[in-house]
Amino acid sequence: MTRQILFVFGSQACVPDDGLLAARQMDCTTTVMGAQLACCMSAELVDRFERVDLSRPDRVVEAARRIHAAEPVHAVVAYDDQGTPLAARIAAALGLPGHPVEAADAARDKVMMKQRFQAAGIPIAPFTLAEDEDDAVRWADKNGYPVVVKPVRGSASQGVIRADDEEELRQAYRRLRRIVQENGLDCGGRSDAQQLVEGYIDGSELSVELVVRGGNPSVLCVFEKPRPLTGPFFEETIYATPARLAVERRQDIEELAKRGVAALGLRDGFAHCEVRSGSQGTFVLEIGARLIGGACARVFRYVLGEDIHPYVLRVALGEEVEPPRQAKGAAGAMMLPITREGKLKAVQGIERARQVPGIKDVILNTSPGEVILPFPEQSCYIGFLTAQGESVEDVERALSEASGRVDFVVEPLACETWLRDVTDQRSYRPPAELGIRTLDGCDLQRAEELVVPLVAATYFAEFPETLGRVKAAHCLHWFEDGHRGDTSPSAWFVSEGRGVALGSARGDTCYVSLLGVVPGQRKTGLGEALVRSVMALFAEKGCLRMEIVVEPRQRGNMAFFRRLGFNLATCDDHQCCSC
Ligand code: ADP
Ligand code: CA
Repeated sequence: MTRQILFVFGSQACVPDDGLLAARQMDCTTTVMGAQLACCMSAELVDRFERVDLSRPDRVVEAARRIHAAEPVHAVVAYDDQGTPLAARIAAALGLPGHPVEAADAARDKVMMKQRFQAAGIPIAPFTLAEDEDDAVRWADKNGYPVVVKPVRGSASQGVIRADDEEELRQAYRRLRRIVQENGLDCGGRSDAQQLVEGYIDGSELSVELVVRGGNPSVLCVFEKPRPLTGPFFEETIYATPARLAVERRQDIEELAKRGVAALGLRDGFAHCEVRSGSQGTFVLEIGARLIGGACARVFRYVLGEDIHPYVLRVALGEEVEPPRQAKGAAGAMMLPITREGKLKAVQGIERARQVPGIKDVILNTSPGEVILPFPEQSCYIGFLTAQGESVEDVERALSEASGRVDFVVEPLACETWLRDVTDQRSYRPPAELGIRTLDGCDLQRAEELVVPLVAATYFAEFPETLGRVKAAHCLHWFEDGHRGDTSPSAWFVSEGRGVALGSARGDTCYVSLLGVVPGQRKTGLGEALVRSVMALFAEKGCLRMEIVVEPRQRGNMAFFRRLGFNLATCDDHQCCSC
């Protein structure tokens, strides 16, 4: 009987083909669960694709049960932080090998993880879950600078920023909060005012890669990061193995990683443990309940003498197999640096990079048309190199040389215009339970009560609360006073305490000049209902279409408007804007 393997890919899964290819070679059928079939995934390696909403674990498990009922699932695997808690839930539901749900959850949530490490006496950086910016400053004043701020459930160093004094901390905190909001990062149900603040740990960085069977961890290899990461941002560069460490120090670090794995309660699967080691000692930064990310996992091919992926699947299938042992020589991977923001036009120098002696793979993780942002805003890497050599020095040299040959050609970011016919929305009425109303009949005081807190929360949340409200009030008056450019008349739609939209029109085109939904109310359909309310009103007044100007950094918004039926306009459709 052919065995079926269920792959759970988060939205940032890198180099997904390696796992799928291993399943093919083992004659297993492949079922992929994810938000979409990633463009970097070869469709011919996927026997079946199941679209799921990754933010709804209950539905993901339900879908897995359905798949299992139709055709038995023999193993479930995930390779990224978003996928691991879901894979753990599926494994528990279907009785398959995996990490326990609580352990996978703790590895995903940095606050829970740190609490477990503290309870087990594992050395970690001092930390606090700050209530807000002022609280972060109070904590840092007491504990000392430098500090590092980071999202509670981030990955790939997105939003991780070092601050050396109060002014830098305030700036970093606001920037982090904006990154969390704009990207809709998972806060584990907490307010997005709350972010993690840690003491900065000086030292070099290493990662210990482990396999865990029946709760027993064993080390596969130790990577070092030869280039210092001192901030203010922590974009990853080179990983190389074997780490150049004295035997005793290496044993201590491996022991520490094993204790960390036990503290989390990981059971069957992989663990990626990151540590910082310097004059203050060795500290665990974090442990992921998974294999090292994307292209770095490719490196196993060169250090273990064989691909790691068939072994990953055998562990997930519950087969008793010996882990592969590290071979002679060295190998490494490099995340290609992101030097400037822009829309990708072309990637040059790939072939020249491949020709550098020692280079094994050049893997691109982006395609023309995509928006590239430098860290800390960026959420994934745009490309990878791998190399093999006699020593870590050789590997580092090859990676640096090859990386210098690759050039990402970008064009400046510009706004895009999206259009939609609104005549079909004329009879739309929002669901009554959303309580959407206009400001018709409101005096200014009532209008302020309704609008200001919503605009403050959704547009100015990065400012201290009082300042945010002042700015929001200005915003309301600005529109009320008729400063609407030439896009009047305008109309406010409000769902009290939940969301707000401001519509306007010029000629036969209407616009959403402002749209805000408070974080706890997102994904409830309120944003859609607000936009459709604006369309309905102006369609009744004779408008034919709605135009949306989408800021290039707000890719999340594009998905929203695409779902609502908007299409990217060509220059013939509208007057080209530049913003
Ligand atoms: P992520 O989940 O985004 O990878 P991490 O907690 O691993 O978040 O942080 C990313 C990087 O930021 C680390 O690899 C490290 O280089 C740096 N970093 C994070 N926390 C600290 C700290 N307390 N001291 C020094 N560097 C840190
Ligand atoms: Ca990390």
